[in-house]
Amino acid sequence: MAAPTEADKQIRYLAAALKAPRIVDVASRLADQARDAGWSFEDYLAAVLDREVSARNASGAQLRIRAAGFGAVKTLEEFDFDAQPGIRPQIAALASGGFLTEARNVVLLGPPGTGKTHLATGLGVAAARHGHRVLFATATDWVTRLTDAHRAGRLATELVRLRRYRLIIIDEVGYLPFDSDAANLFFQLVSSRYEHASLILTSNLPFSSWGAVFGDQAVAAAMIDRIVHHADVLTLKGASYRLRGAGIDTLPSIRTTTDQQQP
Ligand code: ADP
Ligand code: MG
Repeated sequence: MAAPTEADKQIRYLAAALKAPRIVDVASRLADQARDAGWSFEDYLAAVLDREVSARNASGAQLRIRAAGFGAVKTLEEFDFDAQPGIRPQIAALASGGFLTEARNVVLLGPPGTGKTHLATGLGVAAARHGHRVLFATATDWVTRLTDAHRAGRLATELVRLRRYRLIIIDEVGYLPFDSDAANLFFQLVSSRYEHASLILTSNLPFSSWGAVFGDQAVAAAMIDRIVHHADVLTLKGASYRLRGAGIDTLPSIRTTTDQQQP
């Protein structure tokens, strides 16, 4: 390899000053390519900057995905839409992230194993790739978090802090019923985001059963009202994807009440 020229040294120094050390390698590699292919100076500069911006976006997305707290990182690309053909167009539209800038919500309903958590996570990953901050937790974990904040006298501060997240995912609403304090905290989370920032919720129960989850029909109705006012409600159907190939079509103990529910 040839000894570094004055220009090479200067690029190294300036790239460090810009906190973009990757530019050093990219600039020299692309310079060879540019000379061979006869690029203009502008083409070359655009190519170098493009590599740097792509690398920054990718590492930013990686950080946001790690910070989101997904149980397991799943992408929409990994989702087999042949198992849920009805929702393919809606998920494709949501994947572009437009619902986030409009502070709209997404509700995924359906029996266990039909891909609700996978899709919620996949939409969260897509949001992180679009540059949005995302937080994922189960409904039970959210209530624990809010209860801790409430006990420490900082519930209001916590709700304001959470609004800085463009997307909050609440997985598994209805797996465990809430007591009235928990239901009230959950209601405050939903209210504080209403028309400001998006929620994705998943549940194996139809809205008609949420009264039992929140211990109060009026609280459940007020909450559902705020959630679905600006929302896409997607209903997943069929047998559990987990049981595919196991020779089992349905789990006898699992109710499929979602088949009756109206989005
Ligand atoms: P739910 O939250 O509805 O109970 P999950 O999203 O946890 O279901 O799905 C259960 C498992 O099956 C996960 O590992 C998920 O990645 C996988 N899965 C479910 N549906 C699909 C699908 N259509 N394509 C690919 N994987 C799927
Ligand atoms: Mg799930």
